[in-house]
Amino acid sequence: MKVIKGSWKGDMTDYLGKDIFKLGFGLMRLPKLEDGSIDVEQVKVMADKFIAAGGKYFDSAYLYDGGGSERAFKEAVVDRYPRDAYYIATKLSAAIGVSDEESAKNEFNISLERTGAGYFDFYLLHGIQNNNISKYDEYGIWDYVKGLKEQGLVKHYGFSFHGTPELLDELLSKHPDVDFVQLQINYADWEDERVASRRCYEVVRKHNKPLTVMEPIKGGKLANPADMIKDVFQKANPDASCASWAVRFVASLDGIITVLSGMSNIEQMEDNLSYMKDFKPLSEDERKVIEEVQRILKDDKQIKCTACHYCTEGCPMSIPIPEIFSLKNQQILFSLSDEQLRRDYMFATHNRGKASDCIECGQCEGACPQHLTIIDLLKTCRSME
Ligand code: SF4
Ligand code: SF4
Repeated sequence: MKVIKGSWKGDMTDYLGKDIFKLGFGLMRLPKLEDGSIDVEQVKVMADKFIAAGGKYFDSAYLYDGGGSERAFKEAVVDRYPRDAYYIATKLSAAIGVSDEESAKNEFNISLERTGAGYFDFYLLHGIQNNNISKYDEYGIWDYVKGLKEQGLVKHYGFSFHGTPELLDELLSKHPDVDFVQLQINYADWEDERVASRRCYEVVRKHNKPLTVMEPIKGGKLANPADMIKDVFQKANPDASCASWAVRFVASLDGIITVLSGMSNIEQMEDNLSYMKDFKPLSEDERKVIEEVQRILKDDKQIKCTACHYCTEGCPMSIPIPEIFSLKNQQILFSLSDEQLRRDYMFATHNRGKASDCIECGQCEGACPQHLTIIDLLKTCRSME
């Protein structure tokens, strides 16, 4: 892979990743078998279709599926393709599941062993936000990753980010050699005050850095939005899926290396490839359609949970927070019957905690990249019990 020095210049004629296929394969929500393990055979088929269409960028993390994601990537891609057929990005977390500097730094070695990739094309400090940045500084992770780059074990380094635009500006001023940034961007969060997609994007542009994008479909939600939103998209183009509008919105922004879609089955891969294979940026008329949908969403009362599960790991009451929020959203959007809702709620909380079991310890709120007021929101979900 050509290493472009200096990253993205303002005129956008040349920047890191300019020529990379604009759909990236996110390995966060891989298909599962009934026993809960990853369906590697299905991942192989998905990877084959992706690479055959021109895809190269795979995105994993030390934390995804307890290492299962990186191992599945090895089986599906590394063991079956030459090294120059793909780019692999993975991430080191100094904030979740680590207690000291040594274990944080050792994540790199474990990821290298799990993937068998030999080196990482893209390597990220994982999920930086305002309440965990101190860990990355305290453990010297910035210098550690820069050292890995000097050794050629990492080709490009960056960080994924869930904090405020102000912190982002500070970090990019402090670390001007960062090669790229990964942001959560989608049309629904563009003007959202907590996620602040637009403002964060503008900070990255100001620092002339290219971006990879996560959650373009907002954890799958924008693939199946409320009927009133579906109607707007259907009217504009009956042949385009709702997901295609979401991914193309993000891929049409300047300075994008690739847009990561966390695909969970072959159908999602096929749908994504159908419009990204010969990607065309949104036209002026299509932008207006997105603006209309954004106006509708402004009034939306849904809980803005992306189902990342960062909150559940340390919950002392084992409450399936994202599953409960998802049911609440379905109640808001689809007017489910009480009977149906209770059945789904019982299923989601079977052998686990219920919303009313919350002891308000606050652990989950500190871990939530969406800064949701989880404790209060769970109170609104008790009516489903
Ligand atoms: S505040 Fe409630 S939901 Fe959050 S971690 Fe504590 S017990 Fe679990
Ligand atoms: S509540 Fe927050 S941390 Fe938990 S799954 Fe939803 S977005 Fe993630």
